[in-house]
Amino acid sequence: ENKDQKFVYDFTEGNKDLKDLLGGKGANLAEMTNLGLPVPPGFTITTEACKVYLDSGEEPAALRDEVSAHLDALEQRMGKKLGQADDPLLVSVRSGAKFSMPGMMDTVLNIGLSDASVEGLAKQAGDERFAWDSYRRLIQMFGKTVLGVDGELFEDALEAAKEAKKVTVDTDLDAADLKKLVKQFKKTVKAETGRDFPQDPREQMDLAVRAVFDSWNGDRAKLYRRQERIPGDLGTAVNICSMVFGNLGPDSGTGVAFTRDPASGHQGVYGDYLQNAQGEDVVAGIRNTVALAELEQIDKTSYDQLMQIMETLETHYKDLCDIEFTIERGQLWMLQTRVGKRTAGAAFRIATQLVDQGLIDEAEALQRVTGAQLAQLMFPRFDENAKVEKIGRGIAASPGAAVGKAVFDSYTAVKWSRSGEKVILIRRETNPDDLDGMIAAEGILTSRGGKTSHAAVVARGMGKTCVCGAEELEVDTKRRRMTVNGTVIEEGDVVSIDGSTGKVYLGEVPVVPSPVVEYFEGRMHAGADDADELVAAVHRIMAYADRVRRLRVRANADNAEDALRARRFGAQGIGLCRTEHMFLGERREMVEKLILADTDEEREEALKVLLPLQKKDFVELFEAMDGLPVTVRLLDPPLHEFLPDITELSVRVALAEARKDHNENDLRLLQAVHRLHEQNPMLGLRGVRLGLVIPGLFTMQVRAIAEAAAERRNAKGDPRAEIMIPLVGTVQELEIVREEAEQVIAEVEAKTGVELKLALGTMIELPRAALTAGQIAEAAEFFSFGTNDLTQTVWGFSRDDVEASFFTAYLEKGIFGVSPFETIDKDGVGSLVRSAAEAGRATRPDLKLGVCGEHGGDPESVHFFHEVGLDYVSCSPFRIPVARLEAGRAAA
Ligand code: PEP
Ligand code: MG
Repeated sequence: ENKDQKFVYDFTEGNKDLKDLLGGKGANLAEMTNLGLPVPPGFTITTEACKVYLDSGEEPAALRDEVSAHLDALEQRMGKKLGQADDPLLVSVRSGAKFSMPGMMDTVLNIGLSDASVEGLAKQAGDERFAWDSYRRLIQMFGKTVLGVDGELFEDALEAAKEAKKVTVDTDLDAADLKKLVKQFKKTVKAETGRDFPQDPREQMDLAVRAVFDSWNGDRAKLYRRQERIPGDLGTAVNICSMVFGNLGPDSGTGVAFTRDPASGHQGVYGDYLQNAQGEDVVAGIRNTVALAELEQIDKTSYDQLMQIMETLETHYKDLCDIEFTIERGQLWMLQTRVGKRTAGAAFRIATQLVDQGLIDEAEALQRVTGAQLAQLMFPRFDENAKVEKIGRGIAASPGAAVGKAVFDSYTAVKWSRSGEKVILIRRETNPDDLDGMIAAEGILTSRGGKTSHAAVVARGMGKTCVCGAEELEVDTKRRRMTVNGTVIEEGDVVSIDGSTGKVYLGEVPVVPSPVVEYFEGRMHAGADDADELVAAVHRIMAYADRVRRLRVRANADNAEDALRARRFGAQGIGLCRTEHMFLGERREMVEKLILADTDEEREEALKVLLPLQKKDFVELFEAMDGLPVTVRLLDPPLHEFLPDITELSVRVALAEARKDHNENDLRLLQAVHRLHEQNPMLGLRGVRLGLVIPGLFTMQVRAIAEAAAERRNAKGDPRAEIMIPLVGTVQELEIVREEAEQVIAEVEAKTGVELKLALGTMIELPRAALTAGQIAEAAEFFSFGTNDLTQTVWGFSRDDVEASFFTAYLEKGIFGVSPFETIDKDGVGSLVRSAAEAGRATRPDLKLGVCGEHGGDPESVHFFHEVGLDYVSCSPFRIPVARLEAGRAAA
């Protein structure tokens, strides 16, 4: 804690770039204030104060006085004091972290109300019902979030009050009813906590601030952060803002707005409005809202002003903004704005629209989209021509086509999905407690709430399919079923939901490829309908990325079909052809024969069978990738993948013995399998070791490559083969293989009269290889980092077992936010990649560097490989567009 540190900022003191310090909400409230927009005055307590509190358990010593000074200033400006009995200033205390965490942390409204000031508020507002309703809300919210009282106790009491009066909506309760409720709520607080609801307004405020700090480490917030990869040590800011009221009658209300449609990107009037209500009512989706456009009829002045503000904001932020606003007796107030979440398709459209409007340039457009969004757009969608049974329609809240069994609570969603079922979570509305279930589900369906309801916002953030506000559905959570126009859908019945159209179907609807994939496949071009508008935007963004990227993108592909697709998707060669994939299936036995051969004759026999098959594979592959490099990796089978299963074979032999049916062959096989059985096959006889132990294996493969290349050349093709040696740990291994390979290549050149120019290089996938990369580069013309094995060997994690055994625990404990097999571990594995690349280039300045582990198609890892200066990444064909885009984003 630094003595001069400032922990509190007035809204007039901040700006939008101070999100680290003021959180997103605070920074943007300050920005709007300074733009001259109508923001209720207030101040922000910084994330630094939160961090001090979270670290030490106590607020920074200076905080109290700083808050007092800001509160004084606020009181002077507003002309009334917090909680003043005859005319109280009321404030909201709202969380606001650097990254939006919708509904995950706490907020308390109406701070400053007490038994005394509620009367003052009633007089000032001229509305007794309003004052008591506000007090009721304060005790309820404060009781739940600050004092930890079970929220259902309040909700049940509210329901009971309505039932007793035979009414259904809160607004039908009058001042007397609410007064009674307040009494009851206060009793509940006393009974549950042993203390009275605090009457001192400053105490209320301080406790609320502390509760907001604490909510940073609530279970929901932690889970959400892990999902969204938000660091756990950022802390939240706290915004203290003078209250304005949307529930002061029909000339008041509250709403949310987008400066363009977050689902399509189209400009227009998008949002929801709720008359005579407070903000929480909209976000929670508790009452059904009206379209924002209707505000024009309700209050034209405010509507016009809002439209103007929306334009100001969009031009200022140069992006889609979302907005929360309140109208208090005809006066418009801005409560929040931020650069809005949007669907993947809208992100691409908006980025190109903003370029066309001259608001951003192409480099900036690349920063407005992500590889993850592109991946989402490549998901299949529902077949429009399928016969379907449509049962309802809601709001298209988050796109995608999801099919699964109906479940009506989060617990069941998690349980069923753990046992491998696909489920659709169906709720009346979701709240933060449903997060587990939302993560587990294929899609989310709700019967209430708009585009900004909790379900919609969170699902969009997770990239999960969501349809919300499907009003025909009568969801009965208790009986685990829903009814739609007489049809009953029980738990376990299959439903399909389309998050792009909002349609809900009974049964399983077949899915078809996305238009974006059709475009990459070359089967769709720019046009006029909705899908093609998206395709045109993707096309433009990909062109920007290709123009600026430095990394080349290759494919991991082992056959002509994959190679051709990869080419259509923009691959600039093959970075990894795993030849062991050419020997699975019916060819597996041939490798088995080779491995188990006892004599030279047996071995040569096996190799002779394999050679023509291999050659044919390579001819096809070189043809498919004509003119582009193809890195063929020599055989790298962890042996167990090619030998009969030891247990099965043992049983077979034992049964045969019992039947006195002696099978000499099986017995021999079993002996060999026993001899070669390994405890740790991934660390065993594989890669270059196998090539060195089995004479003739690698030379057969090199011969097949060389002959295939010669054949292609004679057919006027342009084969560009590169031979790659796997699992090298020391340069000596490589030298031996190189010598043999060069001899074979020379033989083939002599025989065919074709000069082949085959490059020979190695994978770097063992720590020792990375550590001695300078030496290894003497014998290698290229390196390809095998980050799968490198991760396995650097961490000492078995790549095949680890996900099932302890990764979940590691993820839950936050040891890592994401598996190191998915995103490169920059500090460990990555630092080896970096130093090996440097050492290799020091030895051989024109050394070509690539990566072919799974990380080659992972967005964050692609940025890292760009940064360390690799020449290319190689990934599965389907991820090539994502890698191209991310390589462009990294370079832009
Ligand atoms: C690697 O180890 O990263 C690699 C690409 O090789 P494989 O996955 O085939 O072991
Ligand atoms: Mg490997």
